[in-house]
Parts: sequence; C-alpha cells; structure tokens
Amino acid sequence: MSDLSKTLRERTEDTLSHLRSAVAEFKNVCYANSLGSESVVLTDLIWSLVPEIEIFSIDTGRLYPETYDLIERLQQRYGRTLTLYYPKTSDLEGWVGKNGINGFRDSLEQRHGCCGVRKVEPFRRAVSGRGAWVTGIRRGQSASRALAAPVEWDGQYGLHKVSPLLEWSENEIWEYIRKKRLPYNALHDRGFPSIGCAPCTRAVQPGEDERSGRWWWERSDSRECGLHPRRQVGFAK
Ligand code: SF4
Repeated sequence: MSDLSKTLRERTEDTLSHLRSAVAEFKNVCYANSLGSESVVLTDLIWSLVPEIEIFSIDTGRLYPETYDLIERLQQRYGRTLTLYYPKTSDLEGWVGKNGINGFRDSLEQRHGCCGVRKVEPFRRAVSGRGAWVTGIRRGQSASRALAAPVEWDGQYGLHKVSPLLEWSENEIWEYIRKKRLPYNALHDRGFPSIGCAPCTRAVQPGEDERSGRWWWERSDSRECGLHPRRQVGFAK
C-alpha cells in the first residue's frame, strides 16, 4: 500500500478494518460483487488480504459482454473463482412467458418483477445461512445511499450488511484502481459510472447523477433493484 497517497492509505486501512471486524464478528461473510468500479477495489482487498470472505456475483442473463470479460480478468489476476448465482429457470421462463422478454419496461411493477426473478431470488439464496454480506455502496452515489451506516441489520434478508466503502469518493476509487493497475469494466471508459443489466443501464453525461443511467425512464427515487432499501429522503409530498 506504500504506493498510495496518505488519504487513500487511511481509507484502505479503514475498509480493511471493517472487513476484518465483520469476519471476526459474523460467521460466514460474503461479498456481493456488482462488477462496477467499487467492486474492483473490494475484490482486490478481499482476495489479497481478507480471503475468508467469499465473493459471489449474480448473472442475471442480461449483463453486458464487458462485464463477463471483467469476471474472467479478475479470476485470472487473482487465481480465484467468483461464485456465480443464476435465476431459477422455471421462475424466469414463467416471468418472461407472462410479461415478454423486455416486459420490465412496461411498468414499475413489472420492472420490480424482473429484478425479483433475476436478482433478488438468486441473491436471497446466495446470502441464506450467512452472518453478513458486504456491499460496495458509497454515500456519494445517491441521496438514499448517503443515509447508510457501515454496519446495519438487513431485515429484508435476515443478516448484517457491511458497507466498508461508504466514505470513499469516486475519485478515490479511481485513484486506487489506477495506482494498483487493476482490471476494470471497459464500459467505465464509455461514460458508464454505474453498470448493471444491459437493457437497464446506459452512459450518462458529465456532471449527471452517478445512478441516472440506471432505469432512466423511472423516477429517481425508485432506482434500486431490491437489494438495497429505498430510504425516505426529505419530506414526502
Ligand atoms: S436490471 Fe433490468 S433486466 Fe436486469 S433484472 Fe432488473 S429489470 Fe431485469
């Protein structure tokens, strides 16, 4: 870590401390890797220094090819394997049969239905029986995420949720990636600050909100996939 600036070394030490405390305090900790820029930082820290944490990701079946390339490059660099979870075939066939292959665009309810089948159900299986899951969310990503705590009880899934990157800025994430020459998703160089399923993620203009390229046809307060709660921000109107 000697090649990092003082601020970044402190951020990194703080993140490592959160990860190690989670391993000590909670049994069977996993990291839900979303394969964006923050994920590359956490993958580096976990596979290099806290290998007790299992890393998994969810292959929704609608990811960008660049995201699959990143999985390969990460596995080759660290000589480790990321566990992939998939939607249940019968659930997916049923949902697509009823709603259509791109039915998630027709209503918020249908979009949540697609995320439910392709992301939430596999996620629930992935974290079942574990003591805590790690996520790479940062306060700067959205008004809702700004209210998160480093360790929270995740009542939706029945385990603790650990967010060790909350205080990192986007610039710090990229400084770490560049200093360490880490592989990253090629879409970041094409204007994608946040990367999810291909039909539901697009590039954003400089200065736009980081998550404005996700489900851009919806109101901004609904743009989560069901893995992170949408907190009430300000007063309801
Ligand atoms: S992000 Fe889009 S394609 Fe992916 S699971 Fe959600 S609605 Fe479906």
